[in-house]
Amino acid sequence: MTIPWESNVKATGTLTVYDGLKSGRWVHLFKSALQLFNGLRLPVKMTAATDGQSANVSMRVSVGTASYDYGGTTYSSSFDPKRLHGYTMLLHVEGRPLEKANLDMMKVIAVHELIHACGLENSDHADDGVFAKNITPQGAKVVAWGQTTPMPPLFLAPGTTTKIANLW
Ligand SMILES: [Zn+2]
Repeated sequence: MTIPWESNVKATGTLTVYDGLKSGRWVHLFKSALQLFNGLRLPVKMTAATDGQSANVSMRVSVGTASYDYGGTTYSSSFDPKRLHGYTMLLHVEGRPLEKANLDMMKVIAVHELIHACGLENSDHADDGVFAKNITPQGAKVVAWGQTTPMPPLFLAPGTTTKIANLW
């Protein structure tokens, strides 16, 4: 089930995203992730936030335990995007050896998480496209599990586009 953002955020048609990608190979990914997301021609755009406090979305990388402060509460050890919905986004790559992920795969994961930040939950995952539940390498590119269209270029399943359009 999708979760709409507050009306004052929706009115802007924009989510501000804080670049908390400060570790490992993710450090150079922020700009391309936002550009790729905006290239999907959705009714919501992502722009870089000036600081972490005012940002709608925070992109962070965590391996193992994550801790994060929001509204006076410290959230920790949580990789559940539903629980932290609307407050933060954790790039989660469950059961996948991250060191083997190439840049294209990392971009797909980052954009996937940005789509969650729009208000889509795990139950909203599609069968194909960037927002598929599972993405797997295919040569130098990636495909949605059980599908055949390699990414990049990134694309969305029609159902994902509809869900975002209905939210925004
Ligand atoms: Zn997901």
